[in-house]
Amino acid sequence: MTFQLPSEVINILQGLKKSGFDGFVVGGAVRDLLTKRQVDDWDFTTNATPVEIQKVFPGSFYDNQFGTVGIPRDGNIFEITTFRTEHGYSDKRRPDKVEWGKSLEEDLSRRDFTINAMALQTKNKKQRTKNDELEVEIIDPFGGQKDLEKKIIKAVGDPNQRFGEDALRMMRAIRLGAELGFGIEGQTLEAIKKNKDLIREISGERIRDEFLKIVGSPYPADGVKLLYSTGLLEIILPELVKGAGVPQGGHHINDVFTHCIESLRFCPSQDAWVRLATLLHDVGKPDTMMMRDGKPTFYNHEVVGARLVKVISDRLRLPREKKDFLWKMVRWHMFAYNPEMTDSAIRRFMRRVGKDDIPKMIELRVGDRKGGGSRETSWRLEELKRRIAGLMNDPLTVADLKIDGFDVMKTLNIKPGPVIGKVLNFLFEEVLEDPNKNTSEYLLSRIAVAVQSKDNQQSPD
Ligand code: ATP
Ligand code: MG
Repeated sequence: MTFQLPSEVINILQGLKKSGFDGFVVGGAVRDLLTKRQVDDWDFTTNATPVEIQKVFPGSFYDNQFGTVGIPRDGNIFEITTFRTEHGYSDKRRPDKVEWGKSLEEDLSRRDFTINAMALQTKNKKQRTKNDELEVEIIDPFGGQKDLEKKIIKAVGDPNQRFGEDALRMMRAIRLGAELGFGIEGQTLEAIKKNKDLIREISGERIRDEFLKIVGSPYPADGVKLLYSTGLLEIILPELVKGAGVPQGGHHINDVFTHCIESLRFCPSQDAWVRLATLLHDVGKPDTMMMRDGKPTFYNHEVVGARLVKVISDRLRLPREKKDFLWKMVRWHMFAYNPEMTDSAIRRFMRRVGKDDIPKMIELRVGDRKGGGSRETSWRLEELKRRIAGLMNDPLTVADLKIDGFDVMKTLNIKPGPVIGKVLNFLFEEVLEDPNKNTSEYLLSRIAVAVQSKDNQQSPD
């Protein structure tokens, strides 16, 4: 077999060889090479110890925590790890003891899936072919190449034992499947179902990382469906699973849960956060469902849903900014349009969602529509988009006002304090109604009025 390898990779393999060590590319990089995918990180394994590796590569550094030597090259870090074996996983998360392994086979056998448990070794440098490809040998003791052909994710060794060692592997299996478009091998799948409860031992952060990769993958809906059918979703996202069996009525043929999954499937965004918002947009429906005149209704489901999104965000340890984004998307996803709507009503919607996030809200809506069996768009949605485009240059935040806090302080002869924000908000409300009022002359003349009525003002929304 021949491959075109980056020169840094060849140098690292040759460097180890010249010093009398064995060196291999290992793990995900081999998988990606064999499936002709772009390799993002190159991992190496060797029989050299960390001290020996550092001698071969001056300028490399040893990361004690992971037992890995990093070699900086060309802005990238190439990681070399000495063959390892791992013992005892009493906490279901990490080995009690990591030891240097004696052989490559030992190192490969601790890896999670057959397609991740292959290594690649260069043969003689002289065997370079004309298009700069290099003759390589693939070491594949667990049938990874065969499983790549069969398009399956299969555990190395006994899947029950492997998931018992590290429960995150169950999510990694589904994530790899969603990224590659692969299915999960029968016994491996059964073992996930059987061991699903072990996922409770895994931190929110690690679950979050795998979950977002599933949502951002080429097959997000199939990935989430697999999480559901294995029972993992019930543990990591019970709020969503609650929608299973909840009828929607109207033109909807599916239950709430299926609608959420299908919305994710059809969401046109590549952004995992927009997709996650789309998956969660109706998460408030199960709690608000009420039968009226024999039909299910979901009044205020967007309010309840937004509240649930906060609970979910905290459990998954999402960063503040993403939590706020998801809240906003779910809270305001119920926008509707009719031609009688005033410009100021549309500006209010734009202000809530934020200029930059309006295209994302439209993507959520497209997913919602198609996931409910409707066409991608409607004349209403198209007309709303046109009107939004026409208002994009209007003032939409306090920062767009022609005066600022300093003007307020100067006019009122006061020091910084909460009054300033209140005055600016009052003036902004006027400008939102009528953008022609956004002149410094007019706004300065209104400061006195604003300060008088500041206490009568309700804070927006
Ligand atoms: P990607 O980099 O695309 O996320 P990957 O398979 O390369 O996928 P990494 O987290 O980079 O994943 O891990 C590199 C390699 O380490 C894997 O290919 C696999 O061989 C091994 N590995 C990673 N996580 C585990 C695990 N939880 N259990 C066993 N082996 C693992
Ligand atoms: Mg990797």
